[in-house]
Amino acid sequence: MISETPRVRFAPSPTGYLHVGGLRTALYNYLFAKKNNGTFILRIEDTDRNRFVEGAIDNLIDSLKWCGLNFDEGPQVGGDFEPYLQSERLYLYHKHALQLIDNGHAYYCFCTPDRLEKLREEQQRLKLPQAKYDKHCCSLSKETVAENLNNNLPYVIRLNVPSNLKVNFNDIIRGDVEFDSNNIDDQVLIKSDGYPTYHLANVVDDHQMKITHVIRGEEWLSSTPKHILLYNFFEWEKPLFAHLPLLLNADRSKLSKRQGDVAVEDYRGKGYLKEALVNFVALLGWNAGDDVEFYQMESLIEKFSLERVNKSGAVFDLEKLKWLNAEHLRKKSADELLTLLKLELNESEYNNVNLSDDYLLSIIEVMRERVSFVKEFITNCKYFYEQPNEFDEAAITKNWNPETPGQLKLLNDVFSILNLPTREDYEIALAKVALELNIGKGKLIHPLRLAVSGQSTGAGMFDLLYILGKEEVLKRINSAILRINQTT
Ligand code: GLU
Repeated sequence: MISETPRVRFAPSPTGYLHVGGLRTALYNYLFAKKNNGTFILRIEDTDRNRFVEGAIDNLIDSLKWCGLNFDEGPQVGGDFEPYLQSERLYLYHKHALQLIDNGHAYYCFCTPDRLEKLREEQQRLKLPQAKYDKHCCSLSKETVAENLNNNLPYVIRLNVPSNLKVNFNDIIRGDVEFDSNNIDDQVLIKSDGYPTYHLANVVDDHQMKITHVIRGEEWLSSTPKHILLYNFFEWEKPLFAHLPLLLNADRSKLSKRQGDVAVEDYRGKGYLKEALVNFVALLGWNAGDDVEFYQMESLIEKFSLERVNKSGAVFDLEKLKWLNAEHLRKKSADELLTLLKLELNESEYNNVNLSDDYLLSIIEVMRERVSFVKEFITNCKYFYEQPNEFDEAAITKNWNPETPGQLKLLNDVFSILNLPTREDYEIALAKVALELNIGKGKLIHPLRLAVSGQSTGAGMFDLLYILGKEEVLKRINSAILRINQTT
């Protein structure tokens, strides 16, 4: 009997990075395990030696951990079913393949690549719906097999798929699924290099590791009947299956690298918060049955259920991810944002600028409703980090006229006698100058903003003056008067 408490696994083949589809699979496994007091396992399916990529496993684990998906068993952390790398479990697969051969459920195949190619061509010529191995070696006598093995002929081991059989199972998401065994190829289980294929290794390990629920992407659905046959042949209890919907681009094509970023590290590099990415990915195929879209990990764990995962493909909507990023950013405490901003500053052109925590916290306070990414605390308001180098041309044309320099000079004189001015002091002083000049306050505010920030929009005017400090404000006004006059 398979254990009562769920044991689920994320079983990626290390391709070099964690695909967002892989993250979704890992996340649903994780949420399901956490919700049900189960165990979340990471198993690395690295039996395809042609696809071996140096550093891929570390990279994958790093991305999972960044997202907060810590596994209970797996590489680095260990567990009762070590090793968790299939390439270190090869002995197991061989043993099981031989067992299948003994029972007539698998057979040695010595067909040469040349014969297989000819077979394929012939099947294409006959316009058969699908290329299938013709069981040529299934009927080899025991003696011929022994002789071939003795002569070291290269071989593979194939699954002996019975004909005219209905292979069915109940998928938690899709309900009853049925396959006709006549459409199932005699799948290679052990390749000529001695490595198992995905199918054999996956089933042996899921059984050995006592996996209760196989939660994986829809692209594996067509492999499942082969797995069901294997479970039946081994007389093992089957886990429950849940196949998650495909991820689609906006045009409903399958999500692919060509149309945008697909690696978790790409989103990380672009400054997305892990909380936003996890929240976004959770909604790719699942909802709690209401309109709620903002989730933190704890509430996802509380609300998640496989029964509420959809069958139909989930569209990857980048705008929604951006929106969620802004939402998560706003929910963060000032101190958390300060830490993130400092990391971002270290990576920026301002890594040598020495700014106090209080100064950075003031920027966070006035900008947090205006930014969607942490890096925008820098890129959207560079004027907090340096004197403007350039002035917005359109704003000069619109707001800078021949009287402006004189008016700003007067404003500067009035500002200069303020003692440790607050936001209100600046506001009152500006109103006084406007009155004296008999002009609207806007006539001063727009050129003043341009002078101190180089831009026509941004943080509130008096917040800006207050944060920059009086000396800096006076310096910037003077410098802008000189520089903007030169350019107009
Ligand atoms: N190794 C397969 C993958 O790369 C695992 C599929 C499964 O979960 O069974 O996704």
